[in-house]
Amino acid sequence: MTMTEYFPLSPIGVGNWEIEAFGSFYCRMARAHSVSIYVLTTHLRTWWRQKHPDDDSAKKNVTNAMNPMLRSIGPNVATFTNIVGDATGCTILERTTLLSLRPAISQNGHALVRKGRAWCPACMAESMESKSPFYDRLIWAIPAIKNCPAHKVALESKCPQCGYSQAHYHHLGHMELCCVCKRPLLSEPSRWEVAFHPAPYEKECIRLVKQISAGDLTSAVDDAYGVFIKDFADYLSPIGLKISRHTYRAPRRPQNAREVTRPRFMTLLRRCVAFGIDPSDLFLDPVGAAKSACLLEFARLDLPADIKPRKSVELVGLALDRLQSELSKSDYDQLPSLTEIAHQLGVSKGFLNYHHGDLCAKYARHRTGCRNKKAGAEIERSTHFLLSGPIAQYPSGKFPSLDHLAEAAVQELGVGVRIARIAVGVALKKQFGRREATRRRKASI
Ligand SMILES: [Zn+2]
Ligand SMILES: [Zn+2]
Repeated sequence: MTMTEYFPLSPIGVGNWEIEAFGSFYCRMARAHSVSIYVLTTHLRTWWRQKHPDDDSAKKNVTNAMNPMLRSIGPNVATFTNIVGDATGCTILERTTLLSLRPAISQNGHALVRKGRAWCPACMAESMESKSPFYDRLIWAIPAIKNCPAHKVALESKCPQCGYSQAHYHHLGHMELCCVCKRPLLSEPSRWEVAFHPAPYEKECIRLVKQISAGDLTSAVDDAYGVFIKDFADYLSPIGLKISRHTYRAPRRPQNAREVTRPRFMTLLRRCVAFGIDPSDLFLDPVGAAKSACLLEFARLDLPADIKPRKSVELVGLALDRLQSELSKSDYDQLPSLTEIAHQLGVSKGFLNYHHGDLCAKYARHRTGCRNKKAGAEIERSTHFLLSGPIAQYPSGKFPSLDHLAEAAVQELGVGVRIARIAVGVALKKQFGRREATRRRKASI
């Protein structure tokens, strides 16, 4: 072992659920370099300090730990996997821990992993028979896993010789030896307990570890459960339902949409199962998970066919903003009717009137005012046009009747017939005076 280089190593079982736990990898590293874990750790610390004089992370206790069991989500795990990954040239060392769940679960990581080792005696016997290296699987560290998923044998955590719990690894990194009495950990097959039924949450944990192992879950969505609950509550609110403790009874603590703390890992597993979704889906895509949970929920609710969805509260605010922005316009052509606004918002006119009655009335008056203003301007324009020529030629072969005058204004200016007729009346009055105008109009009829 030189001062700058370590043997390149990579974890066993990458890509499947039997991926190695970080502590086990570290023991293999110590054995590969023919040193004790303590010596390796001291050496690593010196090496890191020389390489990164400014980085004080190696000063922390983490690299002084004689027997690291690091595989959870704490900051020390991140630091140490980083150092060891750098030393061995292994870039996927985070997969041997549960670090990728860090953004989504309670930061203290309490009860995420076992305090000490746990192993499957059948796996141990198998690898000793085949002379392949025995290693601790990451999945054995999760307390919900009571049996080896491969052999259905109950995991063991105590030395069969001295009875001590294996809180550490063997000081030389021998995976199959007791850390206290240094004798073999392999127990008699007659003592193995076989459980044919999978423990609760075993399936979910296997899938989760498999995803971490394959690199599909490198980082969970930040506060994934919070995102999920918010979306789920949003879906339920239009039909007037809320997430209540009566609907989803979680052990000890009720479901609560206002809950601010991130759940612990076991709590999260329980709730995922209660909602009928997979924890891996929740960590990766909480929005999609909320959708599928709602599909299940709506199927379960058996809603009557004629139930009307309640409009969400946000729509009331949206409608208010829309009406206010329309009120600031003064061009009649750009002012939609209330029915059109309601249609665009996906609500009824009655909804607008119910929530913003005063504003709707104000808008209707505003729109009428704008329409009148526009009509006034058009009448003025048409009158001007008529006075500039056509009215003087009336009556004639070209304009035998008043309708022909109006028609000319419509053709020339593109105004409506009603506007044109009013303009003809005004133009007549201006050209011939009130009495003459009335006479001519009557004559025209
Ligand atoms: Zn096994
Ligand atoms: Zn022992």
